[in-house]
Amino acid sequence: MMHIVIIGAGECGARAAFALREKGFGGEITLIGAEPHLPYERPPLSKDGLAEASLPKFIAGAARYEEARIAVLTSVTAESIDRAQKSVTLSDGRSLTYDRLLLATGARPRRFPGVPEDAGRIRMLRTHADALAIRAALTSGARLAIIGGGFIGLELAATARRLGAEVVLVEGLPRVLSRGVPEEIAAFVAELHRREGVKIICGAQIEAIEEADDGARLLLADGAGVKAELVVIGIGAVPNTELAEAAGLAIENGIAVDERLCTSDRDIYAAGDCCSFPLPHYSGRRVRLEAWRNAQDQGALAAANLMGAGETMASVPWFWSDQYEFTLQIAGLAEGAQTTVRRDMEEGAFILFHLDGERRLIAASGIGPGNAVARDIRLAEKLIAAGAKPDPLALASPETRLKKLLVA
Ligand code: FAD
Ligand code: NAP
Repeated sequence: MMHIVIIGAGECGARAAFALREKGFGGEITLIGAEPHLPYERPPLSKDGLAEASLPKFIAGAARYEEARIAVLTSVTAESIDRAQKSVTLSDGRSLTYDRLLLATGARPRRFPGVPEDAGRIRMLRTHADALAIRAALTSGARLAIIGGGFIGLELAATARRLGAEVVLVEGLPRVLSRGVPEEIAAFVAELHRREGVKIICGAQIEAIEEADDGARLLLADGAGVKAELVVIGIGAVPNTELAEAAGLAIENGIAVDERLCTSDRDIYAAGDCCSFPLPHYSGRRVRLEAWRNAQDQGALAAANLMGAGETMASVPWFWSDQYEFTLQIAGLAEGAQTTVRRDMEEGAFILFHLDGERRLIAASGIGPGNAVARDIRLAEKLIAAGAKPDPLALASPETRLKKLLVA
């Protein structure tokens, strides 16, 4: 019987395993996960899931894996791949042979130089265990220092304020969200946080992080110090490529795959946060996306191709971030935009549409309370996928229904 082994029991690995069954795969499926839990959702870990300190939000319960005949190995790490023998060696001493292999190993937090991994008062946030440890320190009035004004830092700041903690956020660059988020939206987000009482320090270089019995202290290059009971570092993620690299697979800012998610070995695929791939709709530019929906979409696509479908990627990048009562959504990639037009909507919500030199819509970035921008961002995504060149004035006008542009 054909055996498909999936390394990495996160969003992507779990989705791929279920998709294999949904698409009619009748062979054996083994899903290997280093964490002690069944696969769970990471997005709640910086949002409600952190505030509530609840159980992880599982992607599926144990019964569903059993029903789908998916063997899930938890607390087990895949340590090496023998491509000639088509086998994987596990940390518990076992070895599994595969017919096809999927690498869905995800990413891990980037370490701050000189700081050991998860020292008591200095933490990072990626897993349920990390969230529990951070939550325990976030009592009302506790001081939290966050390093990094990216998504982890800002979402955590919002949640910590909800829990009554005092928050100082230190970012090395001149503004927050400098990767992939337009300045106008980043400024809106920063102002939102300031209004909610977060102290944001941009353009700051951290000289040292010192831990003490009662907390920790950041020493900034300008001589200032920031004292806190807890420091959380959110300075980006690094793809888990070591296993693939040791097996001799091509690596290029992640495990390099083609448009079908196949690695340089035709029996091994990679998907989710760990891989880089040529992006359709953007002249095949190679990117690595660190986003929930991408992990889902690529899990499903990898499943189809592990079964020999030979399908190519068609989706447009999309992600969201919830902070306070606001949701930010971005579809597409704005890099290389020549023109940006703004559409103002109700309740202070707005969307920026980004067009390239040929007036082709390449991205849309919006922010507003609740779901205010969701429908239009969804339509923008379809316009991007269609390669549309809508009239910028029409995009900017709140009177224009985007659906009409799509039909046109
Ligand atoms: P991962 O979720 O990282 O899963 C990979 C799994 O593989 C891990 O469990 C890892 O332990 C395991 N693994 C790795 N190597 C091995 C090995 N050798 N053997 C066995 N197991 C192994 N995205 C959004 O779009 N919106 C959000 O609001 C959002 N919020 C987020 C909040 C937080 C706190 C975090 C951390 C991420 C958030 N993301 C969000 C990003 C999103 O969660 C990721 O893009 C998604 O989890 C990627 O899925 P993945 O399966 O590729 O990788
Ligand atoms: P991130 O979004 O890449 O942001 C990291 C931020 O820290 C960047 O602004 C970065 O600036 C800054 N930084 C880097 N080094 C620094 C230093 N020495 N001092 C101060 N600031 C520094 O990564 P993240 O917020 O850590 O998130 C980690 C992962 O979780 C990512 O995969 C992310 O996509 C995911 N996540 C996603 C969401 C979401 O999509 N809503 C929410 C939470 C987490 P540079 O640009 O210079 O590197």
